[in-house]
Amino acid sequence: ATPTALMVGVARSAQLGILIKGPEALEASRAVDTVVLDKTGTLTTGTMTVVDLHVAGARNTGELLRFAGSVEAGSEHPIGAAILARARAELGDVPPPRDFAAVPGFGAEAIVDGVRVVVGNERLFGERGIPVSPELTDHLRNAEREGATAVLVAADAETIGVLVVRDQTKPSAPAAVATLRRMGLRTVLLTGDIEAAARTVAAEIGIDEVRAGVLPADKARAIDRLREGGTRVAMVGDGINDGPALASADLGMAIARGSDIAVRSADMILVREDLRVIPDAIRLANRTLTTIR
Ligand code: ADP
Ligand code: MG
Repeated sequence: ATPTALMVGVARSAQLGILIKGPEALEASRAVDTVVLDKTGTLTTGTMTVVDLHVAGARNTGELLRFAGSVEAGSEHPIGAAILARARAELGDVPPPRDFAAVPGFGAEAIVDGVRVVVGNERLFGERGIPVSPELTDHLRNAEREGATAVLVAADAETIGVLVVRDQTKPSAPAAVATLRRMGLRTVLLTGDIEAAARTVAAEIGIDEVRAGVLPADKARAIDRLREGGTRVAMVGDGINDGPALASADLGMAIARGSDIAVRSADMILVREDLRVIPDAIRLANRTLTTIR
């Protein structure tokens, strides 16, 4: 493309709410045939709420929220924010966690009131060998069937309850995906969340391919695999998790309100909240570069 065409493309993109890091991004976007979309924070608002909670026999909800809320006070994950907000709403405040550690893609842990508290998904509990009662497992399965995310809480290796969190799909998501599909693009939902939750969201939005349970470290590899055989992949993401995947894609697009790492790793930054900015970004390059060349 000529320098003039690229300048026009860059100017037009700003009007549409798209920031382009360099002219290569416009060239890359023309060739895209697959669009990979992160779930949490990209297709969904990323603002989660606790919609349900269940405690194990001898425990109570105050204790569950105190332990889980305290651990999540150290977390930057949207699930953590939801749990902390609920704990504060019911208890006023929670003690600060000691020795907090995030377990990316799994959960988080810390010492609270001298107790080792683990908060996270079934996979984390499986790996730690922390048993989950059949009763709590039932609650977990029900939550998953509804497309929600179930978070287990353990105190000193004993599971004390389940918190069910959920977020909302962005209203613009179905229209954005419909447009991408009309443009002949393949759409894929990529998430660390479990298959059932991912499928529910994908069905709501109209995406037919799902890659679920992908650990943060494996998101970039999932992109590489899609790129095999010359497929040109655009990745849209917002999270710390998405940085390497955004960098691996032929075209990385970061949600502007996402993490610094996502924004830094991307070729384009999507400033407009409406997700129809995604097909706009892909069409923009096509139009500018073919008209003016
Ligand atoms: P996504 O790809 O949807 O952004 P992540 O890779 O960040 O998801 O997380 C995957 C899963 O790990 C979550 O769905 C949740 O079950 C669990 N998880 C991660 N961080 C936390 C946390 N701070 N508290 C509870 N669960 C967590
Ligand atoms: Mg995300």
